Amino acid sequence: MMNRLRKRPWQLLLAMISTALVLATVICLIRVVVIARRTDAPKATAVLQQAAQGLDQIVIDAELDAQNRCMKVSQTMTLTSRVAQSRDEVVFRTWPNAFQKPDTSPVAGDESICPDGFSAGSLVVSSVSLERNGQVHSISHRYLDEAKTVLSLPLDTPWQPEETLQVTLQYTVYFPHIQYRFGWWEDTFMAGHAFATPALWQDGAYRTDAWLPIGDPLSGECANYQLHLTVPKGYACAGTGSMTGLTQSDDGRMQYTLEAPAVREMGLVISPILRKEARIVDGVLLQAYAPKVTDANRLLKVAEDALSCFSAAYGPYPYGTFTVCAAPMGVSGAEYPGMVMMADSLLSGDAKTLEYAVVHETAHQWWYALVGSDSSTYPWMDEALCEFSLLEYVGATYGKVAREELRQSRVESSMRVTVAGQATPGAPLDYFETNTDYMVLVYGRATSMLCAMDDWTGGKLHDALRQYTQNYAFAIATREDFTRLVNETTGLDMEPLMIDYLDTYLIN
Ligand SMILES: [Zn+2]
Repeated sequence: MMNRLRKRPWQLLLAMISTALVLATVICLIRVVVIARRTDAPKATAVLQQAAQGLDQIVIDAELDAQNRCMKVSQTMTLTSRVAQSRDEVVFRTWPNAFQKPDTSPVAGDESICPDGFSAGSLVVSSVSLERNGQVHSISHRYLDEAKTVLSLPLDTPWQPEETLQVTLQYTVYFPHIQYRFGWWEDTFMAGHAFATPALWQDGAYRTDAWLPIGDPLSGECANYQLHLTVPKGYACAGTGSMTGLTQSDDGRMQYTLEAPAVREMGLVISPILRKEARIVDGVLLQAYAPKVTDANRLLKVAEDALSCFSAAYGPYPYGTFTVCAAPMGVSGAEYPGMVMMADSLLSGDAKTLEYAVVHETAHQWWYALVGSDSSTYPWMDEALCEFSLLEYVGATYGKVAREELRQSRVESSMRVTVAGQATPGAPLDYFETNTDYMVLVYGRATSMLCAMDDWTGGKLHDALRQYTQNYAFAIATREDFTRLVNETTGLDMEPLMIDYLDTYLIN
């Protein structure tokens, strides 16, 4: 070999060039394969595909009319009855109508959300059609509540168990001029709870809870959503799900397609001022949107750390994409499956406040999005778990001392406050008289209970929560489910402790 090479130096050069070319090609191919496999989000997709099987399909075609602050929607839902009773109506939640009047609006009178005073929002239905046994006909609709958030479609013949119906709603959503999860401000549209969703059926009846000024509106069962959204030229769209299509028409309008399997509802922000930063971490596409790229990067970093921490503690993040979006809001954040909205004012404030707010909202991906709970009857079940998760994040990221300091200042301090109202930490939403009481009891004392449970298990509550996640993923857990699971997993009887914290008045 040596001799031959000495005799023909040009061959050596050729061999070296060929080897280098082959190596470069192989490296490129490997990179392409790796990027493709990462983009496919293999783990999340497998879990998600299984979860999505057999769920109801909701296909939404929407077009934003930015000038008139409204959105025209055509929404087709393929719904299969999975309950034993036959039903003589199909019921949907049309949450934007809560904003029609000051006395039903959850935010009227709140100056940080409505700095310009009351502004109405609504969802106006123009037509409803029903496809049944291959026949399509228009049907009438009525509202079951004063606020018009409970839309009922009476049926001529009852909806039988296992029967599939297809309902198409045509409607227009009008955004109120407010800084909230549903509203518009300057050029940005926050379209949280903007679309009609199937009402939750429970214990032989549809739930008709109002959107109260305290806490979150009740969410429903998981369904497979697909959104085709047309927006004016240059508008970004940050929402629930993974973007699977983006096209532009000749007049410049853009059409986004978002696919969101196994989600309870959709959150969406549409704006021409948002900049995006994104990266793939452990097969999940993380995206952050903010008016400045540097801020998008800050949001992305916290979201990445929180998502890694909670994936390790409670089980993998289930969706293919996680989106954090800054938006003009008078509340610090709002959670949706696969996306969170963060108040843009946090970006110019204290870094820790921003970090903790993003971490809390990210924890909702486990406690609300993945493991559903009844936010009207048991608001502590998602909020206190998110606050406890924040402590776990601080412990994992900054150490035990930092965790203990935050526990004392943010959680245990609530045990020394006197609350005048009738509510206890385990009370339903309508028991809370003020937002301050709600914060002290649900975010404070109910979290203190979780800390006491964690102390009792020698710091191993996260093992029980991991099991809880596994058992109730994509379902809705009750307080009884939680208690039973924690008792079984820890081998301890937690019920007396839970009654002590959740159902007992504390007199200071
Ligand atoms: Zn929360």
